[in-house]
Amino acid sequence: MSFVFAPSPVNSLAIVGSNDRFPIRRVYCVGRNYVEHAQEMGFTGREPPFFFLKPADAVVPAAGGETVSIPYPTLTQNLHHEVELVVAIGKAGKNISAADAPSHVFGYAVGLDMTRRDLQGEAKKQGRPWEIGKAFDQSAPIGPITPVAKSGIVTEGAIELTVNGKTTQKSDVAKLIWSVNEIIEHLSAAWELQPGDLIMTGTPEGVAAVVRGDVMRASSVGCESLTVLISD
Ligand code: MN
Repeated sequence: MSFVFAPSPVNSLAIVGSNDRFPIRRVYCVGRNYVEHAQEMGFTGREPPFFFLKPADAVVPAAGGETVSIPYPTLTQNLHHEVELVVAIGKAGKNISAADAPSHVFGYAVGLDMTRRDLQGEAKKQGRPWEIGKAFDQSAPIGPITPVAKSGIVTEGAIELTVNGKTTQKSDVAKLIWSVNEIIEHLSAAWELQPGDLIMTGTPEGVAAVVRGDVMRASSVGCESLTVLISD
């Protein structure tokens, strides 16, 4: 069998302490998973978790310590940063219980769920899908994965984003409305998880606009930090 053209390459993330790469299959994202972020977006209270996806090739992989560049995307006047703990799945499963969830975790990274907020807002208003606001090219810079053997299971600790050295987002992953284990339980009831899946677990409060030339530095407990420049 041959293809009519070369298949797209498999996108992948660096792994701390290894020369092997983590091949990306899907990128699941959790909406509104910190109380104070839900509030800043005009919502209150605990709602069942909900999900959207980004394409695997929207991930911009960063090696440890390197600065990656992403272009300011088209069609928006309001590009927002959302710093998030990213969970990498290493073992397949469906209907995984929260208690069994840790055994499916390969490791953790920190990532940015970049968002064309104006387009997302318009989609919400019109009852339309979010892809135009969320799933654009190069919308998900993600740092290297720290294997769980090195980080341990992450349930608490600081998550932070600075823009040009000034802190804009600062919280604790213990404040996730739905914990990583609960997210895996809900997600695996809707889709069968596979090795290579990434879960962006939601952003804390403090989301804000960035412009060309801004440098974002994302950090989270258990992970190597990530530095991203918004280029022209
Ligand atoms: Mn997000």
